[in-house]
Amino acid sequence: MAGARRPGLDLVRGVSHVTTGVVAGLATAPLVTSGPYETALWCAAVGGAAMWPDIDHPSATIARTFGPVTTLLSRLAFRLSGGHRKGTHSLAFAAASGVVAHLAAWASPVAGGVLLVLFIGLGLRGANAAVPRHQRINVAVHFAVATGAVLLAYQQGLTLGWLGAAVALGSVTHLAGDCLTEAGCPLFRPWSRRSYGIPLTEDRPTAEPAIIAAVNLAGVAMVIDRAGWWPVVVQLDVWATRLDDRMLQLLT
Ligand SMILES: [Zn+2]
Repeated sequence: MAGARRPGLDLVRGVSHVTTGVVAGLATAPLVTSGPYETALWCAAVGGAAMWPDIDHPSATIARTFGPVTTLLSRLAFRLSGGHRKGTHSLAFAAASGVVAHLAAWASPVAGGVLLVLFIGLGLRGANAAVPRHQRINVAVHFAVATGAVLLAYQQGLTLGWLGAAVALGSVTHLAGDCLTEAGCPLFRPWSRRSYGIPLTEDRPTAEPAIIAAVNLAGVAMVIDRAGWWPVVVQLDVWATRLDDRMLQLLT
């Protein structure tokens, strides 16, 4: 746990946030979704929402996700939340975002769809799925991909009843990542301004890649497990071992 910390540090890369969000989505998908498409959409929503608390950073790349719309949203969030890594990096914000998203999706499929487009767009931008210096193309591609995914969801009869849960889970995943940096997060704002964290990544350049590698491995293992591919993996391992033995025999 940490007390007073230097404010404003944001050392976790966007792609790391999105990765942990997607893997958190994979881990929880059996509780929420059914079928591969709904699972993919749930994971995309959680991964995108894992960028959501950084909407309080007007100069961050995700603020430019959907041009003036997200830039304005970001400036508003910066003002209302008291600055970067303040109000939006709290558990109350994660919960409130989840409740608002749930109510929006429940009240109107259009409102739920618009929010899901926003979160998928944030995820794509956060994961650096963008062409450098081609802002308009990036906005158009991200909008087309996100909107296409949502329209397909509605065409398949999905109701997005899980959108609020995805937003809350993604936001909490973001907080967990930021809590590994020296700045930590003011988890209990607005009731307390104290920041909390365990600065594992501070002054350790290899810590974040190592954590993300472990998260990725867990994700791959989950996909293999869900798809029932373990026999294939075991067979590949047997072949690789045989090939290894054969090479050794040839070399000695
Ligand atoms: Zn953050």
